[in-house]
Amino acid sequence: MRLFRPFSQTLLRLDSIGSSYFSEQTLGKNAMRILSCSFVVLVLVAFGANASEGRFGGTENMTPLLLDVQDPPVPFRGSDGLVHLVYELWMTNFSSGDVSMKKVEVLDGEVVLQTLDAAAIARRLQAAGQRESAGTLAGSAQGLLFLHVVLAAGTAIPTHLFHRVTVHASAAPPGRQEITESGGEVTVDRRPVVSIGPPLHGEGYVSADSCCDATRHTRAALPVNGRVWLAQRYAVDWEQLDAHGRIYAGPQEKLESYTIFGKPVVAVADAVVASVTDGLPEQTPGKYPTNIPLNEADGNSVILDLGEQHYAMYAHMQPGTIQVRVGQRVGAGQLLGLVGNSGSSVAPHLHFQVNDRASSLGSNGLPYEIKDFQVTGRSAGTKAFDEAEEKGTPLAVMPISPVQQVKGAMPLDQLIISFKGR
Ligand SMILES: [Zn+2]
Repeated sequence: MRLFRPFSQTLLRLDSIGSSYFSEQTLGKNAMRILSCSFVVLVLVAFGANASEGRFGGTENMTPLLLDVQDPPVPFRGSDGLVHLVYELWMTNFSSGDVSMKKVEVLDGEVVLQTLDAAAIARRLQAAGQRESAGTLAGSAQGLLFLHVVLAAGTAIPTHLFHRVTVHASAAPPGRQEITESGGEVTVDRRPVVSIGPPLHGEGYVSADSCCDATRHTRAALPVNGRVWLAQRYAVDWEQLDAHGRIYAGPQEKLESYTIFGKPVVAVADAVVASVTDGLPEQTPGKYPTNIPLNEADGNSVILDLGEQHYAMYAHMQPGTIQVRVGQRVGAGQLLGLVGNSGSSVAPHLHFQVNDRASSLGSNGLPYEIKDFQVTGRSAGTKAFDEAEEKGTPLAVMPISPVQQVKGAMPLDQLIISFKGR
């Protein structure tokens, strides 16, 4: 279970701590009390270290921030033609005082792949269970640093990554509060990225909240059944623009006003149907529904087993439109149902994601590459999209001319995309 991993790491690291740190009374009384139960063990281990000099073969330093990667990144090709790595660096502040982040570097051996300064970290670090980001982790707190490493063209995909972090640890002794430490070693996950067809057909689709820096999916870390999962890490909320660039025209609360409403949802590959939910009512567009139970959040949904531990999940379809049943074999392009607004949904759209298990919550989000699509424009961003979705005004779009033909890539965030031909 995830929660015990930092603790075991802690013991490994604390066994290299001299007792002087604790005797400097830099830790608050409460922290001392909390630590006291394990203190006897720690002192014994520390003495053990002293008694066998050279056993650790190097300098021993305090590392108040423990680093860990739960889910190794799976490199994939984005629609920008570059290779992306998306993952979370777990940070546990094992001290009683604030730890403020100064710098984080992602390294492949000696090569620094990415450097985040304090401001960049403050936009990407979220304490456990928090939706807001901050550059400081309070004493005893744990947080996730949401990383998105884009490899420069021609760069070899790294095999291993680790992280070098510089922090200001307020509980450390004066003069020793600026600490640089390394950790979070991880072997890059080179499982094959699944290649799929489009989940919809037609043009003017918007890849809303897609990879890799939109917060609503990429940072949806949920504690489910005793583990934290990021099932939506690579999810997309597909919307569609009409000829005037609008998500809806007419009354906002009317389902039929929405361009995407009723569009056919299709199988992205030959697959076996793993799960079907149907019969849940449509929600009124324009406001977030309340009191939706967790098991109804996806609304009317289908999960397809694509093989090799890849599952495609489609959510929020119209009630009574789902055409498939569990165990049925489907072919790529086969109709599954119609786009609707059931479950936890503020406007008709298709939520689509790929996971490593047949569950939309207790599973790990995996990247995928769509075989063939066209990028015709780029929206002005999530803020502009939210406004267009709320007001029914044309979404500000920068056309891409000539149209970008993409073969085998993940559609990145806020692009205008056509899925033409079959
Ligand atoms: Zn979604």
